[in-house]
Amino acid sequence: MNFSYWENKEFIGNPDVVIIGSGITGLSTAIHIRRANPKIKVVVLERGMTPWGASSKNAGFACFGSLGEILDDLQTSSLDEIVELIQYRKRGLETLVNLLGKNKFDFKQNGGFELFKPDQKEEFNSCQDRINEFNNLLRGDFGGDVFQIEENSFGFEGIIGLIKNNFEAQIDTGKMMSAYLNLAKQEGVKVLNGASVKEINDLGSGVGLILEGGMTIKTGHAVICSNGFAKQFINDDVEPARAQVIITKPIDNLKIKGTFHYDKGYYYFRNINDRILLGGGRNLDFEGERTDVMDCNLLILNQLNTLIKEVILPNTPFEIDYSWAGIMGVGKAKTPIVKNISNNLSCGVRLGGMGVALGTSVGKDCAELYFKKN
Ligand SMILES: Cc1cc2nc3c(=O)[nH]c(=O)nc-3n(C[C@H](O)[C@H](O)[C@H](O)COP(=O)(O)OP(=O)(O)OC[C@H]3O[C@@H](n4cnc5c(N)ncnc54)[C@H](O)[C@@H]3O)c2cc1C
Repeated sequence: MNFSYWENKEFIGNPDVVIIGSGITGLSTAIHIRRANPKIKVVVLERGMTPWGASSKNAGFACFGSLGEILDDLQTSSLDEIVELIQYRKRGLETLVNLLGKNKFDFKQNGGFELFKPDQKEEFNSCQDRINEFNNLLRGDFGGDVFQIEENSFGFEGIIGLIKNNFEAQIDTGKMMSAYLNLAKQEGVKVLNGASVKEINDLGSGVGLILEGGMTIKTGHAVICSNGFAKQFINDDVEPARAQVIITKPIDNLKIKGTFHYDKGYYYFRNINDRILLGGGRNLDFEGERTDVMDCNLLILNQLNTLIKEVILPNTPFEIDYSWAGIMGVGKAKTPIVKNISNNLSCGVRLGGMGVALGTSVGKDCAELYFKKN
């Protein structure tokens, strides 16, 4: 199958750069390349009707790490590495806010709260013991204490302690992606939906892409930003990890406000427009959730439902409105992979569970990598 003369002339042509994936990372890469040099023709290929991976499916936490998680990470990473990762996430959020503007995607710093269950007494005590140390470490970057012990004023059931992260924020994910797509268009980036790349061939002088349906596109350089689906093209430590979310119908007088991390971060919930949005539960079936199929897992959905009933809203009637799934890209390391694969091919993938914070920076890094080569 061929593109028409008109399609070639208006939409595809001979792009200098093709980006695979229109999530946060792909769009940020495209925008940063165009901003640095508006003469460069950039096309983004997206197989979904919206960014169909994680960027328009996520929970909208603008987070950079809760204390319990940071202490847990200390078992596998050095303190310097962890502080560096927190700084990278913080820079990423600043880049996102500067690029789109806070108001365009309802960026609200309502704070993030880590909840501890009765069987996490030891973890809660360790966090209390080290809270000052980490506040001292991060004060220079954030300009104030990041963590503080908080009362359970939300009425959660079975919680022995809460630690607030004063700088954590929540966003409207849909508005963020809408603003991202508008900005890309404004910068002259062509985003083509329903364009699933099947094969990438390095031609030496450029890259040949074959799409589902058989159409071909030739470009000078391709950037793989397909995150949880990157295994298709890259032989590296990046795997798909499915995540499920449920949302309630609007609830009268909902008092819960902020972003919340429960059971070592395996569950996360927040308020949005008088509703509770709750995700997680991958730990119930790690093997089964190592997939890029966007179905929902009934075992996990039932557990999410139970959690709302027994812990989050124990005394408030609620109804689940609907559920969905998204696919993350994870690996052994929590850092993204940004690298050249060959002269004409590079990638920015493995954004993990904090891609809202990382994605814009990773895209900027991908753009810088492109200019170093070209
Ligand atoms: C349910 C869920 C909740 C989450 N919650 C949060 C959160 O609250 N806070 C946070 O920071 N992070 C969260 N994340 C993670 C975050 O959303 C991701 O890390 C981030 O969106 C990754 O962005 P990306 O652009 O790298 O990848 P993606 O958004 O996955 O984009 C990759 C794109 O590539 C496209 N693609 C794949 N293969 C092809 C192909 N062959 N051809 C063409 N296109 C292709 C996909 O359709 C997709 O749109 C969550 C993720 C999920 C799934």
